[in-house]
Amino acid sequence: MNKVRTKKALVSYLDHARKQGLSIGFVPTMGCLHAGHLSLVRRARKENDIVVVSIFVNPLQFGKNEDFTQYPRVEKQDAALCKKAGVDIVYLPDQKTFYGEHFYTTVHVSHITNTLCGAVREGHFDGVATVVLKLFQQIQPTRAYFGQKDYQQVIVIKQLVRDLDCDVKICVCPIVRESDGLALSSRNTYLSGQERVNATCIYRALKETRGMVRDGQAKVAQIKRKMRSLLSAHVDKIDYLEIVDAETLANVSVLQGHIVVLVAVYVGTTRLIDNLVMRVTK
Ligand code: AMP
Repeated sequence: MNKVRTKKALVSYLDHARKQGLSIGFVPTMGCLHAGHLSLVRRARKENDIVVVSIFVNPLQFGKNEDFTQYPRVEKQDAALCKKAGVDIVYLPDQKTFYGEHFYTTVHVSHITNTLCGAVREGHFDGVATVVLKLFQQIQPTRAYFGQKDYQQVIVIKQLVRDLDCDVKICVCPIVRESDGLALSSRNTYLSGQERVNATCIYRALKETRGMVRDGQAKVAQIKRKMRSLLSAHVDKIDYLEIVDAETLANVSVLQGHIVVLVAVYVGTTRLIDNLVMRVTK
């Protein structure tokens, strides 16, 4: 496995691979890797000749009062996990030089970023779209792998790829959970013992929704009321709780077709997100 820190070293390795006709699978991450990230890596390993994992805590996607400086950075541990998973290149761009001194470009995907995380985290998806497009330009992957855990992010990246004709296939991987249902996240490391217990209410509330839908409850307002009461007993703040169309992220009032339930809550000072996709047929 190669650890690469500069664009020059990365591009020279990948140019060589491309000339040999090899396919490139790319997994962008911010590090502190867990089984969720590794499920993306595993799929990339299965489907491509070369696997590149980037580890970069992207300052552009953090708001002023968010956890950029606190975000866990465990490079050695991450590199060991990547090596074990059969990754060919770990790309660790330098925080200072990745964007350069005079970096003036922002990629903005409109409409679908006005809601959910986009509505409460100003500029977040500009930061995500900018770093992902920049990484796509450098790596020119055949396929790129994203987790359904960050549902809105997937929709934003797919839109970006469509709008700007990026020649890459976006592959979406299911959410990996702890045995009690909590979705794996690098931010789970922030949780105290009691907060970790409280956080399990997120998946319970999502499952309760699925149960209600299966039992024939079709009214979004009623489902949201029930979820809100389940969540508010254990979390400190509900950032949002929405049921939307799974492709457009538009609000739905009646449960029908391909929909997604999305939740963002604070447990203590830690912000956690999760979601559940459903296909509702009458
Ligand atoms: P991050 O390091 O948080 O930026 O995540 C990097 C990638 O891993 C993103 O595409 C995430 O959606 C994905 N990911 C994070 N947590 C999970 C999880 N629990 N299950 C599946 N994918 C995940």
